[in-house]
Amino acid sequence: MEKKAFVTKQQIEEIVKTYPTPFHIYDEKGIRENAKALKEAFSWNKGFKEYFAVKACPNPFLMKILHEYGCGSDCSSLTELMLSDAAGIRGSEIMFSSNDTPAEDFELAAKLGATINLDDITHIDFLEGILGKLPERLSLRYNPGGVFKMSNGIMDNPGDAKYGLTTEQLFEAYGILKEKGVKEFGLHAFLASNTVTNEYYPMLAKQLFERAVEIKERLGVSLSFINLSGGVGIPYKPEQEPNDIRVIGEGVKKVFEEVLVPAGLGDVAIYTEMGRFMMGPYGMLVTKAIHEKHTHKEYIGVDACAVNLMRPAMYGAYHHITVLGKENAPCDHTYDVTGSLCENNDKFAIDRQLPKIDMGDYLAIHDTGAHGFAMGYNYNGKLKSAELLLKEDGSVQLIRRAQTPADYFATFDCFDEYKSITEKK
Ligand SMILES: *Cc1c(COP(=O)(O)O)cnc(C)c1O
Repeated sequence: MEKKAFVTKQQIEEIVKTYPTPFHIYDEKGIRENAKALKEAFSWNKGFKEYFAVKACPNPFLMKILHEYGCGSDCSSLTELMLSDAAGIRGSEIMFSSNDTPAEDFELAAKLGATINLDDITHIDFLEGILGKLPERLSLRYNPGGVFKMSNGIMDNPGDAKYGLTTEQLFEAYGILKEKGVKEFGLHAFLASNTVTNEYYPMLAKQLFERAVEIKERLGVSLSFINLSGGVGIPYKPEQEPNDIRVIGEGVKKVFEEVLVPAGLGDVAIYTEMGRFMMGPYGMLVTKAIHEKHTHKEYIGVDACAVNLMRPAMYGAYHHITVLGKENAPCDHTYDVTGSLCENNDKFAIDRQLPKIDMGDYLAIHDTGAHGFAMGYNYNGKLKSAELLLKEDGSVQLIRRAQTPADYFATFDCFDEYKSITEKK
């Protein structure tokens, strides 16, 4: 599918008068349409809820937009819990799916009334030790091990993943929870990441639904909810076919009716914790070409770098690039598009076919709405960018200002010369 930027060169030329590049910009219209389509795709399930994976894009403005469509928050840390609370998403609208969890995080999760999803059997005692008594509603994260393979060859390796309880531990843990007075039980699993196929959720659902039936038969425990977690992918590359959330919803419905309904588990609520699918395609990193360099290769240096978008440097991930205003120009130049970090992996694209780039051109780096800004850091003293929202009416709202040197130096308030640093800016 052709990948099109959701802003034009003209729009960006207007925006940069107020907000200089680089920045991440989000498409309100796209976010809303997608959230609505998800809600409709699972409307057959009475208890359905998407808990947006906050780590993918921790911005309260965007979390509140999703909340309008019934989305809660999936948090995994203290500050993500605080952010959800600040966005007005609390109580049963929070899923706390953490791992290696500090005690204070569990404390806040319980205080906010979040549903806690335990990553390990030892966390039962750990949680009980902190709270004095287990919450009445608890979930367990399952990891069956091995490999998870889909028919199109996409696979992932749960057996190598640090998360979750083994099958044996899972049964033991539900038994313990029941004995300790837990009343509502959930099951959670995240077995494959960025699956660009409509098959993943239905396959995962079948596996979890069959477990749920076994849990009922062996322990007399009827699950209240099954959480399919994240992992639904997006087409980063133009040749990839996007997932169809209606087909995915129908696929889950089919196995629900085949497996859960006959077992008397037709009341189970289906939960999801998607991050990438909810936000990924609706964010772009906009950056300006500021240098060109002709050495052993052709380089275009831009004003963004890996601190603004880490995925290419970290995973060699592909992010499509549109040179704004040159959408229809032939891609007859081969470039490495680089940032300014003193790290050779700071490249947004390697040997990429693009139109001829001139200094001052704006490049839109696609699909940065999830795990984009969120993964940013401050290496080389580089500052994090602003986040902007392109509203449905075409106006632009600042939803996070860019970091300033004063922000960077703020944690040096223990350093004597701190004042002179910040005063000089
Ligand atoms: C990262 C994560 C998600 C979201 O994953 P996506 O691939 O962005 O959908 C959901 N749940 C948990 C527990 C996660 O760690």
